[in-house]
Amino acid sequence: HAKKVGRANHQFFAPAMNAAAGARLALERALRLALENQQFELHYQPKVDVASGAVVAMEALVRWRCPQRGMVPPNDFIGVAEEIGLIIPLGAWVLREACRQNRAWQLAGMAQLRVAVNLSAYQFRQKDLPEFVAGVLRDTGMDASCLELEVTESVVMHNPADAARMLDRLHGQGIHISVDDFGTGYSSLSYLKQFRLDTLKIDRSFVRDISSDADDAAIVRSVIALAHSLRLKVIAEGVETDAQLAYLRELGCDQYQGYLRSKPLPAHEFEALVRAGGGAPVLKVAGR
Ligand code: C2E
Ligand code: MG
Ligand code: MG
Ligand code: MG
Repeated sequence: HAKKVGRANHQFFAPAMNAAAGARLALERALRLALENQQFELHYQPKVDVASGAVVAMEALVRWRCPQRGMVPPNDFIGVAEEIGLIIPLGAWVLREACRQNRAWQLAGMAQLRVAVNLSAYQFRQKDLPEFVAGVLRDTGMDASCLELEVTESVVMHNPADAARMLDRLHGQGIHISVDDFGTGYSSLSYLKQFRLDTLKIDRSFVRDISSDADDAAIVRSVIALAHSLRLKVIAEGVETDAQLAYLRELGCDQYQGYLRSKPLPAHEFEALVRAGGGAPVLKVAGR
């Protein structure tokens, strides 16, 4: 772009570019310090059984409580963390903290719920990931069956042969595996039979208009049928309305996540929600 406008304008663009580069550098520096300074925290969103309304599991979602920027959502820093190599220690912290918290809840007598952790492509390509996960489970005393790892289609499709071996090694320990944002990635259905998977997570873009858009409804119906015929569970993401939930129930969807039941909550609020009625039918949580 700068070239097209011509040389005369070069001086004009340079300060803006320097400002952007400066902001980026500041972000990188702040992110590196954030891990040392314990500014990351996990929020937990319930996974709800469609038929009973019971909270049956949770997803751990990382947030950055930055003194200067406020609460930063993962989409604003995971990409940068990946580019600067911070995702490996950050991802390790997330896994350890999710397992530590879940084990603490179990020991405190809370219902036994599986905790799901999102894996970055970079983590997934670490050859020693299965040993690392096994070590975290051992250190925290959490059972492998209480851990679920979420990977996206693009993560597993990057190198299907390696991914299949990696999933075998993780699944072989008793860890549950789900495919996140199912239907949005570069997707070849043949991988579904090659990979050791437990759950497909239907992306919220298909759920949004499910009760009004016949095409979305057809896609969701087909994904549910496909999953069930492959003996996989299906969970719908981003459920916000009673109408969406009613539709998903009719289609035989197993579980859902979404603001209808609860946004992701800090640990103590999640604990209160489960204690107040993890088994009770839909409880609306106001606001987001
Ligand atoms: P995801 O794993 O697909 O997580 C679902 C996202 O949808 C979360 O956003 C969640 O807050 C949001 N969500 C849940 N219910 C609803 C709803 O009803 N409506 C709408 N509009 N949104 C809903 P969040 O927490 O901002 O996370 C965004 C993404 O960041 C995640 O997508 C995941 O890909 C990534 N992420 C989060 N935590 C981690 C982590 O610890 N490690 C890695 N590698 N990635 C993470
Ligand atoms: Mg996820
Ligand atoms: Mg998702
Ligand atoms: Mg997503």
